[in-house]
Amino acid sequence: MKKCPFCAEEIQEEAIKCKHCSEFLDEADRSSLSRKKIQWYFRTSFIVLAVCCVGPLALPLIWWRPQTTTAWKIGLTIVILVLSWLLFQATLKSLDTLKEYYRLIETL
Ligand SMILES: [Zn+2]
Repeated sequence: MKKCPFCAEEIQEEAIKCKHCSEFLDEADRSSLSRKKIQWYFRTSFIVLAVCCVGPLALPLIWWRPQTTTAWKIGLTIVILVLSWLLFQATLKSLDTLKEYYRLIETL
C-alpha cells in the first residue's frame, strides 16, 4: 500500500489512478498530457486570426505565449507593426482620394 499524493488515502502500489480522488498517479503520463494541452488563446491559428482582426492589439498574445522564442517575438512584433502602419497609411490615402472625388463632384 502507498499513499495517494493528492488525497492522502491508502491505495494499491500498482495503482495508475486513485480510486478515491480519480487523480492519475503516473507522473510521466501526467506531464506529457499537460505538455500537449496548449491554451486555446495560444494556438497559432487563434493568434493569426487575432492579428488579422485587431492588428497590433494582438501583440501581447504573442509575447505571453510560452512556446514562442524571443527572436520570433521580436521579428513578429516588427512585421506586425510595419504592416499595420502601411495599412494605416493606405487607409488615409484612400480617404484622401475619396475626399478628392467628392470635391470634384461638388464642383461639377
Ligand atoms: Zn487520491
